[in-house]
Amino acid sequence: MASRASFILAQQTPGLLRELLRVSRGLRKRKTVLPWKLEFFTTYSCGSRCKTCLIWTRYEREPEKQAQELSAADFGRVAASVGRHLRWLSFTGGEITDRDDAEELVRNVADASPYARVMSTSSHGLDPEKVERLFGAIAKAYPKRAIMVTLSLDGLGDTYTKIRGVDGHLQVEESMERLQRLSKTYPNLTPSFQATLSPANFDQVSELLARMNSLADGNVVTIANDSKVLTEGRIKNIDARADDRLKDVLQTVAKSLPRAGLSNLFARTYLRLSAKALPSPDAPIPCTAGFSSLTISPYGEILQCDRHDEPLATLQAPDFDIPSAIESAEFKTRLEPWIGCTECFTPCQAYPSMMQAPFQSFWRSLG
Ligand code: SF4
Ligand code: SF4
Repeated sequence: MASRASFILAQQTPGLLRELLRVSRGLRKRKTVLPWKLEFFTTYSCGSRCKTCLIWTRYEREPEKQAQELSAADFGRVAASVGRHLRWLSFTGGEITDRDDAEELVRNVADASPYARVMSTSSHGLDPEKVERLFGAIAKAYPKRAIMVTLSLDGLGDTYTKIRGVDGHLQVEESMERLQRLSKTYPNLTPSFQATLSPANFDQVSELLARMNSLADGNVVTIANDSKVLTEGRIKNIDARADDRLKDVLQTVAKSLPRAGLSNLFARTYLRLSAKALPSPDAPIPCTAGFSSLTISPYGEILQCDRHDEPLATLQAPDFDIPSAIESAEFKTRLEPWIGCTECFTPCQAYPSMMQAPFQSFWRSLG
């Protein structure tokens, strides 16, 4: 990780600790609290054609729904309602660069969340020019925030094409090269790859990791699971945890990680915990999604996470006020059965859960 980003993360530690304690108190009492992380599905539009996802078919099936997505200003209002508590903003999709107003959207959310020093975003990386323009503008606008951009790379060559449904491995690498150049001008920008492990790339894992590590630091590995938001529950046999080979693959991944830095300590702990949980489908620690983090759909629905697609509540114009939504009886009733959920262990929610319980996570990963 670039030293500038590490410095920013260290600066945000005291404020983050206060938020972690506040949320821990809420969790102990099973009382709903405002989150310190918001994850935004910025759009359900996507130019990739992944075999494990139906998001890219949504607007082919229902083109009129795209006009119902929140405006950039509305996304800002959502963030403003939680404002000072937010420490981590995450932007995902769909594909954020598909929105012509993506920069305005991110700026509105960032300006409404003055203490969120970490801003992470994912992209398929298939349009290097858009990637460079958007993330360069954001890194320039927020020099005191860590801008972490992950580009999805699930395979090389034909394996990429088979998994993603489009030819694009080389475009993703070009996007990475452009981001690496930008990070020399804007050291708060940290580009990395994210690879999703699935039986379709198990045979290529060593080669894929070597390639990723030769082009970027701090790469993230996750395990394919059945996100209902992505699959609508209609694509079967996606969860890679059911495959006997996963444990060996995770060991290969763990060996490829550099042994330095706080973020790598978290990544190694995450991988060890993931491996220890196998062959059980349950996560190794209880998830804190719904408390430490909330996910906002492009239509203003509050989701517990990016896997559960049943909204806990729907934000209403003109305020899009999260505090009044989470105080509602409807929200509490819908969240209650999922408190401490162990259905999956994906980084977007696993990392906040590990941060809420760092000692438990660390010891359990060693035990
Ligand atoms: S998995 Fe991501 S990149 Fe692939 S189609 Fe779905 S949203 Fe797009
Ligand atoms: S473990 Fe967390 S991220 Fe996974 S399904 Fe449950 S609440 Fe969602």
